[in-house]
Formats: sequence, C-alpha cells, structure tokens
Amino acid sequence: MHELAIAQSLLEIVEQEALPYSGARVTRVKLLIGKLSGVVPDALRFAFEVISQGGIAEGASLDIQEVPLRLRCHQCGEVFVVDDPFMTCPRCEGPEVEMVSGRELEIRSMEIDDGDQAGQGHP
Ligand SMILES: [Zn+2]
Repeated sequence: MHELAIAQSLLEIVEQEALPYSGARVTRVKLLIGKLSGVVPDALRFAFEVISQGGIAEGASLDIQEVPLRLRCHQCGEVFVVDDPFMTCPRCEGPEVEMVSGRELEIRSMEIDDGDQAGQGHP
C-alpha cells in the first residue's frame, strides 16, 4: 500500500513546515494529486489520519484536488483531457503526445491554527 509511504513523507513535510509555529496545530492541508500518480485519495486520507495521531497534524483534514490527465499533441498543439496516457490526438490523430499534467503529487498550501494568536494560514 504505497499511500502509507506517501502519507509518511507528507507528514514529514507538514511537520517540518509547522515547526516554527510552536504550540500550533495543522488544521488543513491542500494537496494536488494527479490522476496518474496512482494515489487513492481515501486511502491516503486514512493513512494520514492514522500516522498523524499524537503529532502536530493530528486531526488535520486533507483537502485533495485531483488533477486530470492532460496530453498535448506534438503535431497540432491540441491539449486534451483523457483517461489513458497512451492516446492519440482526438483532433488530428497524431500519435506523438506529451503529458501536460496528471503526475502531480504536491502540497499546495496548509492552514495552521496557532491558538491564541490571530494570524493563520501558511502561506
Ligand atoms: Zn493533433
């Protein structure tokens, strides 16, 4: 189950980022996950929930935005959304395509609740 490994590295990054805010809690993490990354959002949420227990990110919600798989045709420049990375261009049927998006696996932003201070949000 590779979601566990991903959740683990995710947690490391989140805890690292939250380090300067002592006593703070991470409340929300926004993620971009490409369709081709192979990550199952529910499995990742579950794994993160389990391993974040007792830490600064315990109870944080994962806000997962799935990024569709987009290809660009080398021949006519058409950009199209597909389910399959091995498609030909729907416009000119050109076989040479490159991936524009779909492999993302990144943290877009996170929200930190620093308790009694008013400031929040990072970035
Ligand atoms: Zn084309």
